[in-house]
Amino acid sequence: MVKQITIISGKGGTGKTTFVAGLAFLTRGKAVFADADVDAPDLHLILHPLKKKEEDLYISKKVVRDIDKCTQCNICGEVCQFEAIDSTDINFFKCEGCGLCVHQCPENALTLELVLSAQLFESDTRFGFFVHAEMTIGEGSSGRIVDQVKQKAKTIAVDNNLDYLIIDGSPGIGCPVISSITGSDLACIIVEPTLSGIHDLERILCVTDHFKIKAAVCINKCNLNLDNSNQIKKFCEENNKHIIGKIPYDEIVPTSIIEGKSVFEYKENPVSTKIKEIWDNIKKILET
Ligand code: SF4
Ligand code: SF4
Repeated sequence: MVKQITIISGKGGTGKTTFVAGLAFLTRGKAVFADADVDAPDLHLILHPLKKKEEDLYISKKVVRDIDKCTQCNICGEVCQFEAIDSTDINFFKCEGCGLCVHQCPENALTLELVLSAQLFESDTRFGFFVHAEMTIGEGSSGRIVDQVKQKAKTIAVDNNLDYLIIDGSPGIGCPVISSITGSDLACIIVEPTLSGIHDLERILCVTDHFKIKAAVCINKCNLNLDNSNQIKKFCEENNKHIIGKIPYDEIVPTSIIEGKSVFEYKENPVSTKIKEIWDNIKKILET
């Protein structure tokens, strides 16, 4: 049975991708990795994938007009809440594909058509299988694209008899995050010791609790503000949330990002040591 672990954070820039790249090194040959941060993917910058297959994803719909039928009455412009259409123009970046104008047009001049939302890539990396997507500029539907990324990665995991599907989730608490954590055996939340980080942790835990996803917390850059780190620890204890580890700030992290490497591809350092400990803790939680 493939275990699904999703790494999330209340906001971007907490060190989620550095952590995931560390797991890629530790689980090489046993896991498939999926970048579910489809709005701003960056795991590929460290994994350097060799693309094997690509697929066009047609997910969103946009309105198109048959100008031979249109009488320029502008009813469509009056009903559209997004100011995406008027009697002469359609702004595809603003159109949400809700279909209201299609139903209101008295001449049946409007229809919804599927558009290219993203390209999905299956790749090999030096650590194993990798799936990611590149969204079309201006596209929405990121939650459904995340779902496609996960489905493809799950298929690869099952077909290759892998132990883990590890997902680099989206930051925040919106649709792509919910899509990322759906079906997870564990959501690992990376939080940094700032006041906004604590606030973001509270929000993301509301999401995991709501969807009954088991969650554990990792404090990154824990040594940068010990008071806030202690506050996070206290909050987790009060709310019965497991802290699976603390990672100190170390110059190896910016260096590894600049050089496009995992922190494990350098001599042993405090960050790689802690990520290894955290991975051992994750495996213990998955066994319970
Ligand atoms: S509602 Fe239909 S007929 Fe009227 S302007 Fe829009 S597309 Fe043309
Ligand atoms: S489909 Fe919806 S969002 Fe798009 S133009 Fe029509 S009313 Fe506006």
